[in-house]
Parts: sequence; structure tokens; C-alpha cells
Amino acid sequence: MKAFVLKEPGAVGWADVPEPELTPYGAILEPVAMAPCSSDVHTVFGGGSRKAPNLVLGHECVARVVKAGELVEDFKPGEVVAVPAITPDWRARGIQEHNFKHASAPFSGHQLGRSQPGVFSERFLIPDADTTLARIPEGISIEQALMCVDVVTTGFTGAENADIKFGDTVVVMGIGPIGLMAVAGAALKGASRILAVGERPLCVQRALEMGATEVLNYRDNDVVRQVLERTGGVGADSVIICGGGDQVFAQAVDMVRYGVGVVSNINYFGGTGSLPFPKFSGGRGMAGKTIRTELAEGGRVRIERMLDMVKYGRIHPERLVTHHLKGFDKIEQALYLMRDKPKDLIKVMVTTE
Ligand SMILES: [Zn+2]
Repeated sequence: MKAFVLKEPGAVGWADVPEPELTPYGAILEPVAMAPCSSDVHTVFGGGSRKAPNLVLGHECVARVVKAGELVEDFKPGEVVAVPAITPDWRARGIQEHNFKHASAPFSGHQLGRSQPGVFSERFLIPDADTTLARIPEGISIEQALMCVDVVTTGFTGAENADIKFGDTVVVMGIGPIGLMAVAGAALKGASRILAVGERPLCVQRALEMGATEVLNYRDNDVVRQVLERTGGVGADSVIICGGGDQVFAQAVDMVRYGVGVVSNINYFGGTGSLPFPKFSGGRGMAGKTIRTELAEGGRVRIERMLDMVKYGRIHPERLVTHHLKGFDKIEQALYLMRDKPKDLIKVMVTTE
């Protein structure tokens, strides 16, 4: 069976891999639509932790059920479903402590393309179908469903962890696909003012469509100063970090309010070492600023709730899909597109049929 794999750090390619074996609660699926993501780019080119040889990549997928295990109740062969990027093992002990993402080990909720073969494969296994696969409501397009499995839920996780209240001023740093959904999420959570930080013209346009009230370009001036100038010197109620290098963490602390401000991070900081914490704007350790760091919410119920947000017209994530390639083999080209980010690209989708 053919799959797109990580051969060694920095090198990808095609490999013949073993067919997945069906488990009683599991399902074997074949991709209908796939999307490479910036985190696949980090996995391949970013020098992350050691991975198994010929690890099958990919965690964003809409797929057809090929076979369902004998104990699967809700899904039948032929059904097309959304496959969440984050697939917690709901039987892990830590789940009963509400530790959904790191229940049995750090990042144990992120299995596809990491600790288990990913979705860029002719077929793949989801070990627990009923708790993982999300049913796609009628009227939802493949693009929309595909964006819900990771981009929407991740951006919304950033907005949820920012504790946004009606009337808040929220800064969203980075307006790639995740940042754009964080903008949409902040608007839905009741922010009055959303300052988005970015510069690519198409992303700027989308940010304004999705609820940003202003877009700041970090090249114009120090972005911290731009936020402080616009908030009478007090800073934003919350800052959602959705992109950028190590410097964005300190900037976020600098630009959030004393006492009640929240920094919500969903950005991936590659490499090792430490992020600098600014002593002065951090109140020398006493500023009362909250810092949250999170991985996206996943699992079946979460993704079905995201799909409902699309169904009832609250969000339009299909606007993020700027490129559509046809054919399973195109996943390689799509990954390089995500790495090289041409000007007109936000998100690329690959369909197999
Ligand atoms: Zn992803």
C-alpha cells in the first residue's frame, strides 16, 4: 500500500507500507480529501522529536469508511466522515482527570502522523471509530469539513483560552489559517475590537472579512507600541498567539493588560532552549497576567460541534482553501506549497477522486 512518509529528518517521499489491521472498535478508511498543515512542515523540516522510520505523515482528512470493526456501532462502510486531527485515547487513565490532550504521555492526543501512521496513505486505521470519527451534516462541503478537523478547532481553542468577554479588545498575532479562525472565534466570543497582526494581502483581506476591526503590520513599527497606542497605553484584554518566532511570546506579554490580561498560545515554537519572559512588562513576576498554552481540542464531539458552526452559518472556513489539487499523488506538491507559502496561498486541499 502506498503512503507519503517522512524518510528521515528533512526528507519525505513515497513508500510501500503495510496495510492497517482492523481492530474490534476500529475502522479502516481511505482519504477523500487531505490537507498538509504547517505542523507537517514542522515535523519534516523543523527538526522535531525523533520519529519512527518511514512514518506516514498527515492528520487533516475527510475519508470514506472501508471496513468497520465488529464492535463499531455508529459507522458503516461507504460513509464519508471527518477525521479529527487530535484523536485522544478515551480509555487512557488521565482522561478521568480531564487531561484530554496529554492523558498518557505528552501529546498523547496527537497520534496521527506522530505516534501512529498518519492519513497520507491509501488506507489508515482509526483505532476507536465511535469516539473519534465525526459525522458530516448534510449540506456541508468537503472543503468545509476538512477545515473543521484541525484549522477551525485549533483557532477556536485559542479564542476559548483567551477568556474573551463582550467588549474585549483582542490581538491575534499571525493570520495564517489558524489565526484567521482565531479571529472568527474571537468575534463569536464577543470581542468588540480585534487587532490582527499580519501582512500578506489575501490574509489581511480574509482577516477583515472574518471579524478583524484593524490589521497591524509588524513591519510598520514595533507591534507592541502599535497596540499600546491604540489602547490608551493599557494594552489588550487578551492576545492569541497563532504564529511567529520566539520573539512573539515576549511581545504578547508586553501588550496584554496588567491584572486581567490573558495570553493564549496555540503557536508551535520549534527547537529547544527557552522563551524569554519580559521581567518589566511581566511586573517582575507580579503582573497578574495569565499565560495559557494549548494543543487543539479534538475527538468526535468537538469536531461535530465545529461542523455545526458551519452548518448554521456562523463560520465560513471554505474561504481558507485557496488551492485545490486533484489526485492522491499531489500531496507531495501540496506539502511543498505549505512550506513555501506562495503569496496567494492560505490552505491547499488535495482530493483523491
Ligand atoms: Zn494540521
